[in-house]
Amino acid sequence: MAQIDTDYLIVGAGALGLSFADALLDHSDAHITFVDQHPKPGGHWNVAYPFVTLHQPSATYGLNSMDMGDDRIDSAGPNEGFYELATGTQVLSYFERAMHERFIPSGRVSYYPMSKYQLSESGEHSFVSSLSGKETQVNVRRKLVDCRTFTASVPATHKRKFDIADGVQLTTPGKLPEAWLGGAKTPEHYVIVGAGKTAMDVGVWLLNMGVDAAKISWVRPREAWLINRASTQPGAKYAANTTGWQLEQMRIAATASNADEIFLHLEKHGHMLRIDPSSLPSTFHFPTISQGEVDLLRQIEDVIKIGRVSLIEPGLLHGAAGTAPVPVNSLFIDCTAVAAPRLSVTPIWQGDVIIPGLLQAPLVSLSASVAGFIEASFTTDDEKNALAVPMQFTDTPAHYPQVLLSNALNRLLWSQNEKVTGFLKTARLDPAARMRAVMADVSDQVREEASQIRDATIAAVENLQKLSADSEAEHGAGER
Ligand SMILES: Cc1cc2nc3c(=O)[nH]c(=O)nc-3n(C[C@H](O)[C@H](O)[C@H](O)COP(=O)(O)OP(=O)(O)OC[C@H]3O[C@@H](n4cnc5c(N)ncnc54)[C@H](O)[C@@H]3O)c2cc1C
Repeated sequence: MAQIDTDYLIVGAGALGLSFADALLDHSDAHITFVDQHPKPGGHWNVAYPFVTLHQPSATYGLNSMDMGDDRIDSAGPNEGFYELATGTQVLSYFERAMHERFIPSGRVSYYPMSKYQLSESGEHSFVSSLSGKETQVNVRRKLVDCRTFTASVPATHKRKFDIADGVQLTTPGKLPEAWLGGAKTPEHYVIVGAGKTAMDVGVWLLNMGVDAAKISWVRPREAWLINRASTQPGAKYAANTTGWQLEQMRIAATASNADEIFLHLEKHGHMLRIDPSSLPSTFHFPTISQGEVDLLRQIEDVIKIGRVSLIEPGLLHGAAGTAPVPVNSLFIDCTAVAAPRLSVTPIWQGDVIIPGLLQAPLVSLSASVAGFIEASFTTDDEKNALAVPMQFTDTPAHYPQVLLSNALNRLLWSQNEKVTGFLKTARLDPAARMRAVMADVSDQVREEASQIRDATIAAVENLQKLSADSEAEHGAGER
């Protein structure tokens, strides 16, 4: 068996592993080895559907050391006036450039794609090439960095949880654009199955491609709160929105008696959106969307509310809460994969193993980058864990107070540490650093509001603790 030596073995060359390594490379002299099952760096973006885009602006995604995108503003379509959204292929190409122009040329990084990591019972690390079947043993001098935690479930790879009867045409978003290449007929009707961001992307895509809204049905078991893209834009032009979001959510968090109140207040101030204004949403997974996209999606009037789908028959859908007829020759599109499930969390530093977690929700790249910096800059696990407390992702609105609290507490820890403050001061991935950088170009009112965020956050902590405890008592804390 071949053998290699490395300081850090990183399992998973997705956004998490690459951002962690980026900071480690800059702030230590360590040798790093990546092992990943995909053919290219970038994790789940390898198998994304062709019309996928980042939800968030490119400005705060990817590696801290390398700009993503060219800050172009969309001049048409439902996102007109907002910073471009990187497409899946752009994200993948960005991570490929990072690997081949930054990591490999450093002389301190090795990369093994198409390889599956395994740990023997006696604790030895190795990986097996999916193509050659050859196994390589890895002598890890310092630590294993396990970046499999958030391994995203995407439509191409997830296991369907409902049955389909003979004669039902079902596809995934990834296969949708190629469904007709073999000469198949244009479907008489489309049925989107799923309530998350993927389903929304499919709806927007079909409508933008000219499909009549009347020819689309949408099985939407739950309604979701959506972040207004206008409130997440970098730069001075949108500073009133971004500052307003941060300030308003802390103001209401200080007094709200439940999470719904927080969302309704943010909706009133234009920071949260929902597709159906008559229904109170029961999910929140941090999807970001524009008002233009919401307006488009509202054109789909046949919204089917039968709970989670259990069986699809030609012309009939069965769900947890009833059945619904649909046109017999419909094409069903499975959008039911949950990209980021709510998993229980453990401390990041655990002896020989590091498990990077979410430190600022929903900013995966920033979180991993800070963890990489902390690993390189501090000595003991105790001091590292004391600076970075990971949080669970949200599933329902009731989980949001916990996330606001964790975001605030990590910020507080970082603000009290000179080294971390120094790292964040100019961090490309940090929206707060970006905000500070444009303060000279914003109005006095925005500057005044920005100066109130810190005090408003401190004032909200006590109530956020109460709301988090209430949510935990009602819904439990652990894994879904
Ligand atoms: C469509 C979509 C859009 C999104 N948009 C955004 C966004 O705009 N902003 C944002 O912050 N987040 C977004 N996310 C969330 C996304 O999950 C994270 O941004 C991030 O890409 C997750 O990175 P990751 O490295 O944790 O996971 P992944 O990208 O899933 O990478 C994990 C890697 O681990 C590898 N792996 C797992 N097990 C093994 C093994 N045994 N051996 C070897 N390799 C292994 C896998 O091959 C995979 O490459 C989006 C998610 C989806 C699905």
